[in-house]
Amino acid sequence: MTIEILTLKVLNDNYAYLLIDKTTDQAAVIDPGSAGPVIKALNNKNLNLSHILLTHHHYDHSGGVRELKKLYPESKIAIHEDDAAHLPTKCDHKLADGDLITFANVAIKIIHLPCHTRGHVAFQVGEALFTGDTLFNAGCGKFFEGTATEMLSNLQRLKTLPNITRIYCGHEYTVENLEYAHQADPDNPEISNRLDASRIAQATNSPLVPSTLSLELQTNPFLRLNDEQLQQQLKTDNELDTLTSLYKIYYGTTP
Ligand SMILES: [Zn+2]
Ligand SMILES: [Zn+2]
Repeated sequence: MTIEILTLKVLNDNYAYLLIDKTTDQAAVIDPGSAGPVIKALNNKNLNLSHILLTHHHYDHSGGVRELKKLYPESKIAIHEDDAAHLPTKCDHKLADGDLITFANVAIKIIHLPCHTRGHVAFQVGEALFTGDTLFNAGCGKFFEGTATEMLSNLQRLKTLPNITRIYCGHEYTVENLEYAHQADPDNPEISNRLDASRIAQATNSPLVPSTLSLELQTNPFLRLNDEQLQQQLKTDNELDTLTSLYKIYYGTTP
């Protein structure tokens, strides 16, 4: 694969990502919450923008779309069909589960994960997975437009991907999420170790994305819902109740 991935910090704590095809100087952007940092990166590297890919409709992921489309009128805006109506701009490509978008001779696969919003998707590009606000480092997004049962099946689906999958999430919440994870599963040494390492990384401005699926399987309680030790801590005996208990710890409210 000839694609390079560039991480951009946008707004307060959002991540946008540029996929760059060096052979043609084309780029695709994922979740441009604001246009400025994206335009700057495109100009710095002399790139043209061919695709604007949105994991979901929320403004902190799509706020830069209108400006980018104006500057790059040939670029194609893609969002799941269930989220398209929320965009202030017309989209060019309404996505459905299993669709493939071709960028730089590479297929980008659409994985529909309804719950945070009805049309939330993840983009799978080779070994990279862009998870938006569904799966965070050591956490999981809010269930704004769906149920715990839906999120459970999303999480179960993500767990089946190859362990080497690199996870590029939509927000930088790593340290606070690991603090909640530690609260939920205090005897898990992998969580404590990752929390220590992440605090150091944050203090030294080292990147905390991407994570990997194998690291998340060890330290993200939302991918460990059937773990005996975690269930004992939360006094639950099934994955759905464990998910609900975790949501309360992370978000202070029931889903
Ligand atoms: Zn969101
Ligand atoms: Zn967000």
